[in-house]
Amino acid sequence: MKNSLAGLPAEEIIKLIGIKEKYRGRQLSEWIIRGAVSFDEMSNLPAKLRTHLTESFSIFSSTVISSDTDNDSTGKIGIKLFDDLIIEAVLLKDENGRKTACLSSQVGCAMGCVFCRTGKMGLRRNLNSCEIIEQFLHLRNLYGDISNIVFMGMGEPLKNVDEVLKAISFFTNKEGFGMSQRRVTVSTCGVIDGIIRLKEEAPVIRLAVSLVTADEEDRIKIMPVTRKNSLENLKMALIEHQKVSGRRITLECAIIKGINDTQKDAAKIADWAKDLSVNVNVIPWNPASEIDFEEPSEKALNSFCKELEKRKIPYSRRYRRGRGLNAACGQLATNLKNNS
Ligand code: SF4
Repeated sequence: MKNSLAGLPAEEIIKLIGIKEKYRGRQLSEWIIRGAVSFDEMSNLPAKLRTHLTESFSIFSSTVISSDTDNDSTGKIGIKLFDDLIIEAVLLKDENGRKTACLSSQVGCAMGCVFCRTGKMGLRRNLNSCEIIEQFLHLRNLYGDISNIVFMGMGEPLKNVDEVLKAISFFTNKEGFGMSQRRVTVSTCGVIDGIIRLKEEAPVIRLAVSLVTADEEDRIKIMPVTRKNSLENLKMALIEHQKVSGRRITLECAIIKGINDTQKDAAKIADWAKDLSVNVNVIPWNPASEIDFEEPSEKALNSFCKELEKRKIPYSRRYRRGRGLNAACGQLATNLKNNS
């Protein structure tokens, strides 16, 4: 297998390809960031070097093996990794045409949230930072310029925090993609030590927490992470994070019929969140054939939102995007047989 260069900083590229001229590393990195897919395109590199690179290296370690686009502006791609495991990445386009890349951080996930298809896969392995960055490049090659990134694909980003932070640094550094940190969001199911790492190392990026319910007993049943990361400790960590970041935290609430869809559930979330500045994302749970839950009724969603409103908790009502592609929240999962 050839070593790949996408996602590597210039200094690592020159070390890997064994040349002395630092500026060549910068040139190569710039080409890859601009979207080059072959060394032949790199017209400011000497022909001999281009031939050497083509013979001995590749730009990507991964390959796009499928792509689907939904009419509600969602794109999903299947990506085969160097070891034949398969992951998914999603492109979301909002009503203003702004494109967001939803990236995976792991193959599968060990967190076991019972409402999530990825959770059903178990964890195969962590992705390295280059594999995370390649997802962005593949999505951009297919769908054009992308302004925002969310770590909300397969996996729990804060269980792979070193590689996620490395990828974020490449996305936001001037020598990398130069994106504003404000355009990057990390979503966690509530891994407290990871939240502390983010506070210390990347406080300006946005934080989203998949809260789902503020009832400790219910949360333990549907999100096992709660056993070691209690809601009280989670809130303390978020308060500390917010002191440093000064930014509003998004609370993601996938609403499931009979689990967390009542006014009382909304009231508990409002009480729990009262010491924080938050925006609650109310997301109707997306049905999945292998999971025995039901989606909430419109009536239940309306009264849930009304309760948040009554208690002056800002919220956004999310609609059912990406469903047709199994690209909606909690629906990413690759064929387990392919991955075994
Ligand atoms: S919701 Fe997130 S953390 Fe939970 S199992 Fe799914 S991917 Fe993992």
